[in-house]
Amino acid sequence: MNTPIFNPPVRTLMGPGPSDVHPRILEALSRPTIGHLDPAFVGMMEQTKALLQYAFQTENTLTMPVSAPGSAGMETCFTNLVEPGDKVIVCQNGVFGGRMKENVERCGGTPVMVEDDWGTAVDLQKVEETLETNPDAKILAFVHAETSTGAQSDAKELVALAHAHDCLTIVDAVTSLGGTPVKVDEWEIDSIYSGTQKCLSCTPGISPISFSERALKKVRNRSSKVQSWFLDLNLVMGYWGSGQKRAYHHTAPVNALYGLHESLRILEEEGLENAWTRHRKMHLALKAGLEAMGLSFIVDEAHRLPQLNAVSIPEGVDDANVRGRLLNEYNLEIGAGLGALAGKVWRVGLMGHSARAENVLLCVGALEAILSDVGAPINTGVALSAVQKALQA
Ligand SMILES: *Cc1c(COP(=O)(O)O)cnc(C)c1O
Repeated sequence: MNTPIFNPPVRTLMGPGPSDVHPRILEALSRPTIGHLDPAFVGMMEQTKALLQYAFQTENTLTMPVSAPGSAGMETCFTNLVEPGDKVIVCQNGVFGGRMKENVERCGGTPVMVEDDWGTAVDLQKVEETLETNPDAKILAFVHAETSTGAQSDAKELVALAHAHDCLTIVDAVTSLGGTPVKVDEWEIDSIYSGTQKCLSCTPGISPISFSERALKKVRNRSSKVQSWFLDLNLVMGYWGSGQKRAYHHTAPVNALYGLHESLRILEEEGLENAWTRHRKMHLALKAGLEAMGLSFIVDEAHRLPQLNAVSIPEGVDDANVRGRLLNEYNLEIGAGLGALAGKVWRVGLMGHSARAENVLLCVGALEAILSDVGAPINTGVALSAVQKALQA
């Protein structure tokens, strides 16, 4: 046996995640591993929780990273909050709302679906009507930033509607956290989960969550045990809870948490508002370039996410061929369409460290070169100057 070393190619990641990982984070990952109960490690855990409170804009005590990817953050919210027999209103306007439905069913709850077209925001009126016709509903669940379509929903208004009907809320902020405003306390969100590999630009595999006191009351007063031992917050908090007394629950991913700590330090240094502004600015530059070429977005401007740009593939263009050439000739990854949008759109991510001027220029320049090479009906010679102009605005 003589298996060669694995040296991954160096790519520019402009898909739906993972995003480009900041070199400072890669360096942090390689620091010496220490015990997950080492007092030095416990000190870092406390800092990480405080940094996550900043990222989520919350004072919730239960604000911590789940030791698994965003999907596990989703399951943490559902398994802890949904008891058998609970009715849960689930908004679906893309792929991830469908996974929420699955979660409700697997927890023994009854999902009531509010469906909207892919590429549109969750319709507030439909949600209000559904809350009214289902007064026994316990929870409203929705995706703040739908990564499968690039549409953003109005989290603040959705939470207000839920509370007016005595429902708790579960909010998916995997793609929004760090890229667009997420204000847990101001919007009174009850439970929320995110991921490390999108706008936090960390390596994949960790899911920050935050639970309000109101949500925790429901978790503590359940009549049945949380069916997942690993995700049961009543047990997890023995390790992640406050104070220096930590009990072994599972072995935390020590080095991965060094990475998260560093990524949150980078966010703190830049400042949340500045990070939001940067994502918006890079989105406007990308938009200027793509539109100058003649490409169009599928989401209307009012609900468009800056960090996830879904653009229509021009008529007659081979989706997989273009993405393959971007990867092979430019080391550039962009995302394919999912589900109903497969083959119809490209998803260009501008998440975290990927939201930089050089990435926008690379992506627009490479797309123009390949599309004109395959004879697609685009305008040539104007896109890059449109990007430059937007960057200088
Ligand atoms: C990426 C994503 C998830 C899942 O996160 P994983 O880390 O892939 O498990 C969930 N919801 C949304 C909106 C996402 O974009």
